[in-house]
Formats: sequence, C-alpha cells, structure tokens
Amino acid sequence: GCGICPKRCPFSAITIINLPTNLESQITHRYSANSFKLHRLPMPRPGNVLGLVGTNGIGKSTALKILSGKLKPNLGRFENPPDWEDVIKHFRGSELQNYFTKLLEDDLKAVVKPQYVDQIPKAIKSGEKSVKALIEGRLSMNNLDMVLDTLELRHIYDRDVSHLSGGELQRFAIGTVCVQQADVYMFDEPSSYLDVKQRLAAARIIRSLLRPNDYVIVVEHDLSVLDYLSDFICVLYGQPAVYGVVTLPHSVREGINIFLDGHIPTENLRFRDESLTFRIAEGTEEYMNEQTRAFKYPAMEKTLGNFHLSIDSGFFSDSEIIVMMGENGTGKTTFCRLLAGALKPDGTRKVPEMRISMKPQTITPKFEGTVRQLFFKKIKAAFLSPQFQTDVVKPLKLDDFIDQEVKHLSGGELQRVAIVLALGLPADIYVIDEPSAYLDSEQRIIASRVIKRFIMHAKKTAFIVEHDFIMATYLADRVIVFDGKPGIDAHANKPESLLTGCNSFLKNLDVTFRRDPTNFRPRINKANSQLDQEQKLNGNYFFLE
Ligand code: ADP
Ligand code: ADP
Ligand code: MG
Ligand code: MG
Repeated sequence: GCGICPKRCPFSAITIINLPTNLESQITHRYSANSFKLHRLPMPRPGNVLGLVGTNGIGKSTALKILSGKLKPNLGRFENPPDWEDVIKHFRGSELQNYFTKLLEDDLKAVVKPQYVDQIPKAIKSGEKSVKALIEGRLSMNNLDMVLDTLELRHIYDRDVSHLSGGELQRFAIGTVCVQQADVYMFDEPSSYLDVKQRLAAARIIRSLLRPNDYVIVVEHDLSVLDYLSDFICVLYGQPAVYGVVTLPHSVREGINIFLDGHIPTENLRFRDESLTFRIAEGTEEYMNEQTRAFKYPAMEKTLGNFHLSIDSGFFSDSEIIVMMGENGTGKTTFCRLLAGALKPDGTRKVPEMRISMKPQTITPKFEGTVRQLFFKKIKAAFLSPQFQTDVVKPLKLDDFIDQEVKHLSGGELQRVAIVLALGLPADIYVIDEPSAYLDSEQRIIASRVIKRFIMHAKKTAFIVEHDFIMATYLADRVIVFDGKPGIDAHANKPESLLTGCNSFLKNLDVTFRRDPTNFRPRINKANSQLDQEQKLNGNYFFLE
C-alpha cells in the first residue's frame, strides 16, 4: 500500500521495483539535457493494429512522432545528433531497421490523427475551411461514403471546422485520415469526446483500413476500445515526464493485463507495486444494510430549442452510484442540470430541493491564482481534513501541481481539480458529468476508485455520466439508460440494475461483452464471433460474472 491508508489500496506511488539493466544503451530519443528520455520503440507489424497503452507523459506521442518520420530519433545524443545511417544501424536486426529504411526511402507514407483535435481549426491557415473541402482535399481512396456514414459526418459536411464541437472535430479528424491512401495510419487518442456508439464506430473504421502491408498504430485510454481495436499491444512504463520504456509486443489480452497488473512476467519486472482490478459493485454489500433513506425525483419534461427530453421518475438511496449511459445529445447533461437546479423543468413541476454538488462537463478555468488558493477559497474545510486528503487529494496526485496557476493546467490536471472541488463541497448528492475526459487509463481507474470510495464512506448518492465502459460498469450500482433521437427527442429511463440496464444499452448498440477471468474487466466480443452470436441469441449482452 501507499503507507497512508490503513487497508490495501490502489493509490501507492508508482515505483519501479526492478529496472532492466541495459536501458542506457537503449535510448531512442532525448529532447534535451535533463529532459524526458524514451527507451526503445514500439515495433509495428504490417497487416496488424498495434495498440499503445501507458500513463500520460510516458512517451506515447513521442513514439508516434518518431514512427511517422516527423521526429528524427537522436539516440540520446541531443547535442550531436546521429545521421539516419547511424539510427538505422542502431535498430539493426529488428523489424524497425526495415521500417526506418522504408520510411527514409520515402516508401512509407504516414498519416496521423493528432491527439489534440481542439487545435485543428487554428492549425488550418488558409483556404476553405469546411468539413467537405478539407476531407475531399485529402481524399485518395474509394471510401468516402462509408467514412461519412460511419462517422456521422453528413449533417455537418458543409460546416466550417471552427464551428464543430469536440466530438464532431474528433470524427472529422478520424475521417480525414481514413480517406487517405497511406502505408502507416496513426491515431493518437481517437475516442476523446465520443460516446460509446461513436467509439465503436471509430474502432471499426480504423480496423477497416488494414491491408496486408499497412501499419496501423493507435494510442488509446479507453481500455475496452483499445482491446477491441488492437491485434497486439506495447505497454509504456517508467516515470512520467522523466523517462518511458516500451515493452516488446504482447497479445492484446496479455498487454492490457500487464498494464493493469503492473508486472511483465517475461522480464520478471514490476513497474507498479499494485495491480488494478475491476470487481463489479465493489464494497456495496458492506453498505447495503445501512441504507436507511429513500429519495425520489419526479417525472420531468424539458424543451431546449428543438430538443425535447422526457424523464421517468426515479427512486434512489444513499451510498449509491447511478451511472447515466446514452449517446451524445440524448440529454444527460440536461438531466444533470435539472437535478442540480441549474435548469427548471417545463411546466410547474419542481425538483425537490436537495443539497447538490456538481462537476460540470466542460471546465473553463477563470480563477486567478494557484490550485491551493482555489481549494482554500472553495472547499477549505474539506481540503484541511486529513480524511479528505487521504481519500481524495493524495490519490489523485494533486500535490504534483498544487502550487501552479489554475489557468496553466493541462486538461487532465484540470479534470482532477474539478473532481476534488465537486467532492469537497458538503452535499447529499454529487452529480459528476464525464469525469474520465482528458484522463489517462491509469488516472481513470484511480478517479473511479476515489469517487466510489468517497460516496460509500460518506453515505451519499452520486449521479455520474460516463462513456468509458470499464469505468461506468465499475462505478455503477445502477444505471439510467438514455434513448431516443439524439438532439431531437430523447428519453431517460428510470434507474435499473446494472445487468438489465447494460443489456438494453448494449442491445441497442448491437455489441456483446464478456469478462476477463483475471481482472474482471469487461471485454467487447469480436462481431460475429461464436460468443457474440451465442450471447445475442440468449439476450445476454452483458455479464456480471
Ligand atoms: P504521452 O503522449 O505519453 O502523454 P509525450 O510523448 O507527449 O507523452 O511526452 C513525453 C514527455 O516528453 C513529456 O514529459 C513531455 O513534456 C515531453 N516532451 C514532449 N515533447 C517535447 C519537446 N518537444 N521538448 C521537450 N520535451 C518534450
Ligand atoms: P448529452 O449530455 O447527453 O450529450 P445535452 O444534455 O448536452 O446532451 O444536450 C442534449 C441536446 O440539447 C443537444 O442536442 C444540445 O445541442 C441541445 N441543447 C442543449 N442546450 C441547449 C440550449 N440551451 N438550447 C438549445 N438546445 C440545447
Ligand atoms: Mg500523447
Ligand atoms: Mg453531456
């Protein structure tokens, strides 16, 4: 454990227990003196999708930059960089020698979906900026109709890219890559801003690019998407912002389990001293009997412009987490704002006054000052409480940037600050809209555990919107399924059990899940596999055990 909590806990600092001894001779790139060092490189294989998994700041984007030819690796010699001949010699005898030789001879064309899609509009300097002009300007394959349909781009096809939402920009960026004839396709975090249905569509279209001689490489933090997308996986471990090491390629199941387990059996190497598992409804049995109160929200209707949402009434209790699942535009945020009293329902219906604390979906920092100053201003009592420090602040690793200006924080840092702010206010109900956005897979697991533990210990209720299916099913005691036509006419069902809720949600998406026997994480069945067909036949889209 971390030495702070009484029980075994997942929040221990990441420590390298035993490092491979020959790392110094395996530096692929170092930006400058005392800067981040990347050791080794992921090894792509033709005709396969290579998935990369690892925490933020560990070198995933750096590896992509090198493999796409945008960054020439300096083998650590940043003052006196080697020429390509030396670089190729360095990778002699491996698949990478062949890869770099081809890259250098201009035999490999690489196209990249960048990580930060929000920066795309700014990066387009001149010319027409409509989705249509930009996609058709790059079109060199015969798949335009399929791309537009799969990525739901038709209704925004004539729009200027500067007017697109995050999810629209993401689908546009993926589409732009998919319509190009290339030899190497790279996708840096394709699922950000997308809902579950769109994540699956993106995964399918990325896999559809595979041809026998092509390379596809994907960095992804949603582990069920990564699992579904990849043919094999390289894990990156080390110390964020200091150094990263790339493992040899592993099978998908093995690679993700290595990442979760923090241990590479073949190298007898441990890089995290705690393993991460996903037993469902962790801890609920313990608290179930103590539930004494029952609460209710009424049936509600809400009209916003052309959008209409109808909500079934629902009961809930303390020590309970209710996860909202649904496509983008089905009114999840609207429902959160109704609960929180930030919006009034149509007619004269009133939401009973409840003490509510809400983490909004979008976080725009206006605060002038440091994170510490912000906490002192907004949640002083909680911030000074040792229990809150131990349960929330420490595990989310806020100490790393507590004295930095709030305005200068990265997306992932801001998200963690926003989660702490929401949990730090005294309330009976915590409404948390998309906590996993901008977080890496490790931070997602830690954030889920923090939220879950906080709600159970404080005997409160949480309503959480979450698209990462592993997080959502880990968090949920029950679920509210949103259905209907996104952006037009949607409906929120009453809270139901995780099993029935996931079943109807997944049936609508036409995918089935199984469970990994080692760490219980949900895994998407490959479409039309034997399990997929069997489960669909029996109506078992999702399993609890
Ligand atoms: P990831 O994609 O895994 O989050 P990156 O490859 O983007 O990680 O970055 C790894 C580390 O390298 C980070 O600490 C980052 O700040 C640093 N880094 C990235 N680009 C540069 C650069 N051009 N100069 C110096 N350091 C950089
Ligand atoms: P979700 O959180 O499920 O993605 P939202 O509750 O944010 O969905 O939005 C549901 C729909 O309502 C979207 O189509 C959105 O564009 C629309 N909408 C939200 N706020 C307004 C508003 N103030 N005026 C008009 N339409 C709105
Ligand atoms: Mg990155
Ligand atoms: Mg929303």
